[in-house]
Amino acid sequence: GEARENLTYEAFGHAVRELAQAVADDGFEPDVVLSIARGGVFVAGGLAYALDCKNIHLVNVEFYTGVGTTLEMPVMLAPVPNAIDFTQKKVLIADDVADTGKTLKLVRDFCIDHVAEVRSAVIYEKPQSLVKCEYVWKKTDQWINFPWSVEKPVVRRDGQVLDS
Ligand code: 5GP
Repeated sequence: GEARENLTYEAFGHAVRELAQAVADDGFEPDVVLSIARGGVFVAGGLAYALDCKNIHLVNVEFYTGVGTTLEMPVMLAPVPNAIDFTQKKVLIADDVADTGKTLKLVRDFCIDHVAEVRSAVIYEKPQSLVKCEYVWKKTDQWINFPWSVEKPVVRRDGQVLDS
């Protein structure tokens, strides 16, 4: 198969600290970290601790159904966050990767009319991304294996299948 970018949990720990360092060095002090579930939750948690920001919000977006296979457009799933929560706030959107950038654009457009400022931080950004994130740990054009999604969901030891 094609070459993959493999991120381990250990490497992720360093990556998210370096990403936070870039945000801090830039003088951006977010009031809110808005994570894009599910991959962005890991990134948001790491950033929020490193930046001493106690306010994390979450938005669920569904786009990818498999390796390189997508829905036509990303969609926000319920519950959609209340835009009022972002009024006049400095928001840092956190995700694992900007690939097409459509997911980040959807979330950015959702809050841009309400917030004081919105910026985006991702571990990876691909060259084709239509959103250029302010904070990127690494640029790649490969498919990335993330430690949280590279393995299949756990199987119960009694063989019972988990509902999804
Ligand atoms: P986009 O909307 O930028 O095309 O895709 C964003 C989402 O798609 C990411 O948050 C991630 O969940 C998924 N995705 C895109 N590219 C990759 C990739 O290379 N590897 C993995 N594991 N997920 C990806």
